[in-house]
Amino acid sequence: MADLTERFGTMVFSEDEMKRWLPKDVYKKLAKTIEEGEPLDLDVANAVAHAMKEWAMLHGATHYAHWFQPLSGITSEKHDSFLEPNQDGTAFTKFSGKALIKGESDASSFPNGGLRATFEARGYTVWDATSPAFIKDDVLCIPTAFCSYTGEALDKKTPLLRSMTALDVQAKRVLALFGKHPKKVVPNVGDEQEYFLIKKDAYRKRRDLVITGRTLFGAAPAKGQELEEHYFGAIRPTVSAYMKDLDDELWALGIPSKTKHNEVAPCQHELAPVYSELNEAVDNNLLIMEKMKLIASRHDLVCLLHEKPFEGINGSGKHNNWSLGTADENLLDPGDTPEENLQFIVFLTAVIEAVDKYQDLLRASVASCGNDHRLGADEAPPAIMSIFLGDQLTEVVEMIMDGEASVHATTDTLDLGAVVLPNLEQDNTDRNRTSPFAFTNNKFEFRAVGSEANVSDANMVLDTAVAQALRDFADALEGTPAGDFQEKALEYCAEHLREHRRILFSGDGYSEAWHKEAEERGLFNLPTTAEALPQFVAPKNLALFAEMGVLTEAEAVCRYEVKLEKYNKLMNIEATTMVREARRTYRPVITAYATKVAKGLETIRAAGAEAVMQCEQDTLNELCCGITQINYCIKVLDELHKNAEAIVDGQAQAEVYAHKVAPAMAELRAAVDAMEEIVAADYWPVPTYDDILFYV
Ligand code: ADP
Ligand code: MG
Repeated sequence: MADLTERFGTMVFSEDEMKRWLPKDVYKKLAKTIEEGEPLDLDVANAVAHAMKEWAMLHGATHYAHWFQPLSGITSEKHDSFLEPNQDGTAFTKFSGKALIKGESDASSFPNGGLRATFEARGYTVWDATSPAFIKDDVLCIPTAFCSYTGEALDKKTPLLRSMTALDVQAKRVLALFGKHPKKVVPNVGDEQEYFLIKKDAYRKRRDLVITGRTLFGAAPAKGQELEEHYFGAIRPTVSAYMKDLDDELWALGIPSKTKHNEVAPCQHELAPVYSELNEAVDNNLLIMEKMKLIASRHDLVCLLHEKPFEGINGSGKHNNWSLGTADENLLDPGDTPEENLQFIVFLTAVIEAVDKYQDLLRASVASCGNDHRLGADEAPPAIMSIFLGDQLTEVVEMIMDGEASVHATTDTLDLGAVVLPNLEQDNTDRNRTSPFAFTNNKFEFRAVGSEANVSDANMVLDTAVAQALRDFADALEGTPAGDFQEKALEYCAEHLREHRRILFSGDGYSEAWHKEAEERGLFNLPTTAEALPQFVAPKNLALFAEMGVLTEAEAVCRYEVKLEKYNKLMNIEATTMVREARRTYRPVITAYATKVAKGLETIRAAGAEAVMQCEQDTLNELCCGITQINYCIKVLDELHKNAEAIVDGQAQAEVYAHKVAPAMAELRAAVDAMEEIVAADYWPVPTYDDILFYV
């Protein structure tokens, strides 16, 4: 494709376009806002808005929208046209600086976790100039933050930006101790997005998929993923056409979609863009997910982003690759100049400390109804947080902890004995896929994030926790005489690594033994959302958010409430769907088939057949037992569900859903799935796993 680079970013009001469309002085002021967060004055905003509108209209846009991320996690937009009527029946177009910078909308229907009384319905969207505007479906989309009348963050972007600021400030303090003064330090993130593609036809016939995004019933297919033929396999034409379309649209939106391949499970695929600054990476990931769904429809496919669409088949996650960088260097790169290594060790120590101190909060940040099916099952990282460093880095860290690494102050280098750090450059980490938080070459890969998640939450927590660890380092080391700095810094790292060594684990994260060991080490094991979410509001975590200026207590509580409510609502929807489907779709069919078998038996026996027809008799008995069992399970689930629904306290309700309702759902599912194995195929009312998984 000759025009590959030309197509890239055509729908983005990029820096390049800004330079082209804005008067020089206006561009300079805008750049200052983007770079340094200086507020824009209205004249400048007016000029920017006008240029944006002209540019957008040239590319076919008719509307503009403030594009934001309410606490529901998905994106929201309200479209307003550029059109303004004249008195004489004609019209002109207009987009003012005011409309660019700030939008006011009735926010009463967005989740707010009690932050805003419903009578105070106003919410404001405020332009985030650090993420570029783009055109989507003829609408100029302006990335914005969303807050209440009183200024509390009602969205995911605001705390994310605050966490980036906290990290920037503290990382710069640490770098200053190394004599470096970069303009800014930013987290860089690349998210590997997993997804399933299935035929629209099959999807529509499965109410469970349509309503909940996952199959609530379905026996294991005859063939699953055991042949391991799908991972990296040749991409079939239907999928390939879809991926090409997707790439094309993402590229136009300036999203550097890079890698695509088939994943482990049949029908499962992955897309990874080249990493970018966190704020942009989050926006991009949201757009990727949106486009994945929309474009699938054009190909008569449906894209499933649920963490666990099919039981017994690999689920989908979103490996969140995270590093910290200045314009010149990746601070998590071990590097090949030893004098830089102490700096690397300091940042590495900060991450280790952060993950250990806030393991519960990190776990809470990825908690969701869908992700509960993944974390802790033998295919995704366990619900216990731990860090995998790889052999060489583990050795380095151990030497530091044990005081074997020394500093030659005279030569200004850090002597790590026999270990040669540059080797780390060569794919140092064997790929421990069982670790939720793994060091891979020059970044950490947080693997517990769910495929459907807005990655803001996880990154916001990570940034904030690392910012605090860096702050503590800077607090302790600032003012140290230059001659002592290396030694003191290394001592600090050794002490803090020793304090947090329990979080380091290189073994099999799936094993029973690890669960036991983790408990002995005092690590959190929060198996479900119901246990994980309260950590959001644990006193030490509220203190972290407040100290680092990321979330006020009210804002943190509101996030907990919203997530809890969402979990309870989803569980309610799933339980309701199950009971209905079992009663109205499966049971009638199983009963009809039993009747058919019974009638057949009767007819054959009446005809005086000599055969005993034992097999048919057994099937009939099994069917009848199955129906009885299904009826019993429906009754149990229905009752438990009704009890759960009646609980007023959200936390108590979530616990009942997680520990009473969910097991009852599993029982009902097992009862129905057992019947799927014996009811004649042409009787079965919905497409089975065999029908769904192998026909794209
Ligand atoms: P894997 O082999 O782990 O599946 P992929 O190539 O699918 O890796 O994805 C790796 C992701 O990590 C990409 O999005 C890539 O851009 C991103 N990445 C690479 N280096 C860094 C870095 N230093 N910081 C953050 N993300 C990075
Ligand atoms: Mg990958």
